[in-house]
Amino acid sequence: MLEDLYRRVIMEHSQNPQNFGLVDDDTYLGHHLFNRSCGDDIKVQLKIEYGNIVDIRQQGKGCSICCASASVMTMTLKNKNIYEAKEAIEEFLKLSKGEPFKEELLYPDSKAFQGVSRFPARVRCATISWRASLEVILLYEKRED
Ligand code: ZN
Repeated sequence: MLEDLYRRVIMEHSQNPQNFGLVDDDTYLGHHLFNRSCGDDIKVQLKIEYGNIVDIRQQGKGCSICCASASVMTMTLKNKNIYEAKEAIEEFLKLSKGEPFKEELLYPDSKAFQGVSRFPARVRCATISWRASLEVILLYEKRED
């Protein structure tokens, strides 16, 4: 039953992804990652003001796990500050590996990806957009130093 629910959540997000589509605006910082094993190709853009993620965009081509996860990632990180966001990313990486994680830091639909831990090849699909956003945050921090 839970499996069916999770599958439906993933299907809904992949068919109706949130914050989808890139913007032509140089106040956003972007990063692009490619997952060779599955062919997932994802770009993220974050608008960070004074350490707060005020907007986030994503666009990619890939499997439904990758596209759905990118959608959930934007719902989780939008309006967080970069410290909260890094913590949330870390928790999602734990979730995807089947490790204990802090549920309260993640958007509820994140739990739909718990099943990927049983399929090591899919862990990369589920985490690629989160890793791309982490790269943007690290880039932002480097710039601010
Ligand atoms: Zn994939």
